[in-house]
Amino acid sequence: MYKMARRLNPHTQIMHDKQNYADGTVNPPVQHASTLRAPDYLSYIGKKEWAGKHYGRHGIQTHRALEDAVACLEQAYGVVLAASGLQAVVLSLISFLQAGDKILMSDNVYPPVKLFAEKFLPKLNISTVYFNPLADETMLAELYDANVKLIYMESPGSATFECHNIEAIVGFAKQHNIISVIDNSWGAGVYLKPLELGIDISVISATKYICGHSDILLGTVSAKSRAHYQQIADTARFNGFYVAPDEAYLGLRGLRTMPLRLAQHQIQAETLMAWLRQQPEVTFIASPTAQDWFGHEHFKRDFSGASGLFGFYLNENDDVMLAEFFDNVTLFALGASWGGYESLMTPMNIKRSASPHLQQFSGQSLVRVHAGLEQVDDLIASLNDGFTALRNSKA
Ligand SMILES: *Cc1c(COP(=O)(O)O)cnc(C)c1O
Repeated sequence: MYKMARRLNPHTQIMHDKQNYADGTVNPPVQHASTLRAPDYLSYIGKKEWAGKHYGRHGIQTHRALEDAVACLEQAYGVVLAASGLQAVVLSLISFLQAGDKILMSDNVYPPVKLFAEKFLPKLNISTVYFNPLADETMLAELYDANVKLIYMESPGSATFECHNIEAIVGFAKQHNIISVIDNSWGAGVYLKPLELGIDISVISATKYICGHSDILLGTVSAKSRAHYQQIADTARFNGFYVAPDEAYLGLRGLRTMPLRLAQHQIQAETLMAWLRQQPEVTFIASPTAQDWFGHEHFKRDFSGASGLFGFYLNENDDVMLAEFFDNVTLFALGASWGGYESLMTPMNIKRSASPHLQQFSGQSLVRVHAGLEQVDDLIASLNDGFTALRNSKA
């Protein structure tokens, strides 16, 4: 075992695996294996200690190293890996729900989670009720009945960027003894520590900042308690969930530098937001760091920093005009993801949101920006190309 002299900062610890590897390599080996050979008969039948796993589907050293590192980051009892962020969300829900149960789900969650709740869960007789992302205990109490078993959050929402009142939601969940789950992809386990705030389960789309290079899909589910961890691990096992060792390896490789990258994403995003604020076509910056954005006071209380994903509202909704803008901001790829080294810009559809505080933006367009790690002057010049094209075509 790796010797730890003292308790380290988790962001240091994710750079130092607990295990020692064959040949003294710094990183774990990427072991490709469906079959694992037992050392002998008694080990195979469980009458002798066998440290290994009995079958490749349950993961080997690479997986354990990533699970340990994420557990350290999230301050979790244990972590279960999933093949994508969405699969991690699904796992966090199906591990705890049964027929007849009801979920309270925030209205600002990643849209495919709503699709799962609306198109698939009804087949299992599990229903979903949405709550306003800015809800307090009183608003939640109005939605509560004895069938509610789980409350599902995302803070900030990755499309509309409201931050929940986590303290109020956790208080409500504990009062009614329901499981609380949060999608922690935006804070990435660095800027928000949900399990320390009393939330039971934290899910991360590791596809985003943990991986950081836009080349794999991966998800993590972290549990505060041993019992919850066991329930999630069993559910993954019963359902045959599996992550390829190459993916686990790349996730771990990305994780080592994530806190450093995030700090720079944050600086880039703040610079871009300051510039965007000065453009007459921009009506609002949708970011937890903006003092006038919804839930900013909760962000200030609960988060230790910000990542590089934010939105802005553009006073324009004509697709021909928007095409002029998007197609001329050439350094920002038009793509539906975030968290990589490269900048992205995505038109967001907010029509599905029922939250009253967003109604004031009807007729405007929400643009989501992932501030990448390019030189920021180049990014601003590229944004300027987009606004110039928009102005020229309106003139
Ligand atoms: C992308 C995303 C997911 C899903 O992650 P995948 O790895 O793409 O399946 C879940 N939650 C949030 C907030 C996301 O942005």
